[in-house]
Amino acid sequence: MSTPPAHSPARRAAVALAPVAAVAAAHIAPAATWLPVVRRRLPRLAGVGHPAHVALTFDDGPDPGSTPCFLDALEELGVRATFFVLGDAAVRHPSVVRETVRRGHELAVHGWSHDRPWLPAPADEARALLRAADAVRELTGRRPRWYRPPYGILTSGRWAAARTAGLRPVLWTAWGRDWTAGATSASVRSAVAAGLRGGGTVLLHDSDRMSAPDCWRAALGALPGIVNGCREAGLSVGTLSGHGILPR
Ligand SMILES: [Zn+2]
Repeated sequence: MSTPPAHSPARRAAVALAPVAAVAAAHIAPAATWLPVVRRRLPRLAGVGHPAHVALTFDDGPDPGSTPCFLDALEELGVRATFFVLGDAAVRHPSVVRETVRRGHELAVHGWSHDRPWLPAPADEARALLRAADAVRELTGRRPRWYRPPYGILTSGRWAAARTAGLRPVLWTAWGRDWTAGATSASVRSAVAAGLRGGGTVLLHDSDRMSAPDCWRAALGALPGIVNGCREAGLSVGTLSGHGILPR
């Protein structure tokens, strides 16, 4: 691509946008670049808990087409998990939220919608997160404890919003890469196994809202192998609240 002439409208627009782009890039540095650092330096934020326990977590629901399948599979396995829900989906599908709680699982907050925080907007972040936390509390009768920011991007604004909403941010130590097109039960299981140790927190998705269509089926199919693999290694599997993450 050629560079526009120095005084062309396109060049002036590019120059004007450069500081905005720099702020945005600094603000939303990709989670993949800093998650390994978080795991080393801030293990509680990464979700490191009791070494004999693994926390099982799901993001991006509730979804009436897929979440009930996870509830059935977890019941069959005798496992309770933590579901990080989106507020806008929770209010659209209240019966799925209530059924999740009725089956003994824990509800947590993933945000109101699944936005990327392109630019700092602390007041909007705080309003949206509070709205999502209130929606979960009203639907379940329980105040949520945990917050996982979309894309794992924990900006200073999101951190402050979580504090205002009384939520504790927690990320993950192992993921299944179950959102990618072409993910299979075997690929999800092996991605989780590659990153998982006792005390770890596993991230999967019970909805394809932000993923390739139908790829939740890969996560669902991987569940028995993940849970049984943990148990064979002497690890119990359960919710974040049962994970023994130390207080700050
Ligand atoms: Zn998400």
